[in-house]
Amino acid sequence: MENFKIEVDSDGVALVTFDVPGRSMNTLTASVIKEVGDVVERIKSDEAIKGAVITSGKTTGFCAGADLGELGGSGGPNSLGGGGGKPGEEGLKAAFEAGFALNKAFRALETCGKPVAAAINGLAMGGGLEMTLACHYRVVADNPKIQLALPEAKVGLLPGAGGTQRLPRLMGVMAAAPYLLEGKSMKPAEALGFKVVHEVVPAGTEVEAAKTWVKTKGDPVAPWDKKDFKLPGGGPYTPTGSQVFIMGNAMLRKQTYGNYPAQLNIMKAVYEGLQVPFDAAIRIETRYFLKTMMSPQAKGMIRTLFLSLQELGKGSGRPAGVPHYDVKKVAVLGAGMMGAGIAYVQAMAGIETVLIDQSQEAADKGKGYAEGLVKKAVSRGKLTQEKGDAILALIHPTADYDQVKGSDLVIEAVFENREVKAEVTKKAEAQLAETAIFGSNTSTLPITGLAKASVRPASFIGIHFFSPVDKMGLVEIIMGQETSQEALAKSIDYVLKIKKTPIVVNDSRGFYTSRCFGTFVQEGMELLSDGYAPAIIDNVGRATGMPRGPLEMHDDVALDLSYKIAQQTKKDLGDKYEERPFTTIIEKMVEGEGRYGRKNGKGFYDYPENGQKTLWPGLADLAPVKIADVDKAGIEEIRTRLLYRQAVEAARCFEEGVIVDPREADVGAILGWGFAPWTGGPISLIDGVGAKAFVETCDRLAQQYGSRFAPPALLREMAEKGETFYGRFGVKEKAAA
Ligand code: NAD
Repeated sequence: MENFKIEVDSDGVALVTFDVPGRSMNTLTASVIKEVGDVVERIKSDEAIKGAVITSGKTTGFCAGADLGELGGSGGPNSLGGGGGKPGEEGLKAAFEAGFALNKAFRALETCGKPVAAAINGLAMGGGLEMTLACHYRVVADNPKIQLALPEAKVGLLPGAGGTQRLPRLMGVMAAAPYLLEGKSMKPAEALGFKVVHEVVPAGTEVEAAKTWVKTKGDPVAPWDKKDFKLPGGGPYTPTGSQVFIMGNAMLRKQTYGNYPAQLNIMKAVYEGLQVPFDAAIRIETRYFLKTMMSPQAKGMIRTLFLSLQELGKGSGRPAGVPHYDVKKVAVLGAGMMGAGIAYVQAMAGIETVLIDQSQEAADKGKGYAEGLVKKAVSRGKLTQEKGDAILALIHPTADYDQVKGSDLVIEAVFENREVKAEVTKKAEAQLAETAIFGSNTSTLPITGLAKASVRPASFIGIHFFSPVDKMGLVEIIMGQETSQEALAKSIDYVLKIKKTPIVVNDSRGFYTSRCFGTFVQEGMELLSDGYAPAIIDNVGRATGMPRGPLEMHDDVALDLSYKIAQQTKKDLGDKYEERPFTTIIEKMVEGEGRYGRKNGKGFYDYPENGQKTLWPGLADLAPVKIADVDKAGIEEIRTRLLYRQAVEAARCFEEGVIVDPREADVGAILGWGFAPWTGGPISLIDGVGAKAFVETCDRLAQQYGSRFAPPALLREMAEKGETFYGRFGVKEKAAA
């Protein structure tokens, strides 16, 4: 065996050390899954072995779970759900056997007839935790940093190695629900409280404690294999247990709108599995596991939210050949909402930050934002006072541009005004070294135009953050016409240093994220001017999987801002600008009624200081309701309009070369504007539906509602050739592989 080492001590206790060679962390690769069977066979058949303790040889943790790279890779030798390419009945059987392999091996461990304990010395996630749940006893090191979790649901999967069956049998259905459905993690002390683990011992003594149990009390029968077993809290067939499922189903529906098969299938696996003996239960689990695994949602979510996110987080879009650029000092121009947030994340990453505003007072106010966040973190015990002070000492608020000297990078976050930006660009560049980069955080102004104020346009780039900066993980890097590859590489190094995920796009109005997100809000306005009741628009908007409805989101963005952008676009585009009926609704709201959105408490909704927002009654006068009721088909049509409108815009961005990598398009959409995560992103949505079907629907929508839905020529060509975005544009991915 290459992944497990077995040493039997003089008392006959076998210490099984899980240690995948050449990796810093254990994962359940195909070779590990095969060897679990060998380990069980040895424990069972070797007469010298009286019992066993399983631990990890890694200092990083016990096991991080399934190897999602193998699992998610389509068609690979270990990818599940494909049935090894065999057709029909035989293929299904093969798929089931492959999916059931680990479940079966863990069950064999549990029923091997000898006591087995897990000594958990670090994080145990997914299949890693499931391995320990199949042991008869669990000892975990006393370290609050250790996480025990079944995070599968977060990437659209179902815990498929006994997790949906053992966890509720240990802690009860109600208590287990958030750990199964949301992938919530528990610390050792919590796990002890829930009776998920049996002992928490000082770190380093877990193997000894586990051995002691095997030698002194070792019981080789799992609780659910005993005659007197009772499910904590009662099973689905008891009055209290059945209530849990009735309530749980309703809550699940409210949270997921039926968009996520994983959560639904987890619920079904638990419900059905708890009513049958354990061996049948795990077969039920495997069926739901495979069903979930084969869904387009799981494929899209694993690829985008795990694999692509991980690759982008390692700088996959970084041009090769430029030496690593360690950004140590950065000047942030403008200490407003964005500048203050940027200063904070930089200081958290250990970067010395000069925070400049028009006056010392304004700059100090900007630093105040970081002071507030640090204070909160200290009071919650997340940061020591000493560390907090050290972080704050890195931020130097000032009005003096001389202090830009020595900076490796400048981030410009002053007012969204060309003249102001041009002025600060000149002032800062006068102090900059030849090698330094200048990044603008503009949200709307094309980078190529802003670079005209620069004497070194090759080092001028867009570095677009999202608000609130400390919470949003994405940074959109924008290449101007003259921006160099070196500037790009250096910017990516900076973004990775502040622990954000970079995507790279080319210059365009609204770049990639704002441009596509804008279409969601605009389609909401189209629906409003079509006469749909606002409540229908926002309710269906939320049901698509977007974080909020389009009208709510419009209020959040600010109506006056969207009005200003529309006016500017009209000026810039001239004859090409297409006036829409909804423009007058916004104009009347902003100019006539002073309704600017959430920021002044008045938008499509009224926002009372204490209390819930309610729809503004005056809206009915500006946009009379003609459709107050919709049936299922009507709901589906609104859903399609809201999602396809964004997806077709993302496709246009590909055609225009605004974005070139499908992974960046999908990750950027979910992290940047909250595009419905169940789809895996707008590009995965199109690939999942298929270009041909997508184009057909878009053609119909264009005919019915207007040219905004017209599919670009690229999509038509892909439809004809039967291509996918990941197939056609996934070049970098293939090259890297
Ligand atoms: P803000 O109005 O909160 O802050 C701008 C700051 O710049 C103010 O503190 C102002 O005093 C300062 N400033 C103006 N002229 C200056 C000068 N000559 N020298 C130094 N400081 C000067 O604006 P914000 O929301 O922080 O936006 C800043 C930039 O970030 C804009 O370009 C905006 O488009 C962009 N942006 C905003 C968001 C957002 O959600 N607000 C998101 C992404 C990007």
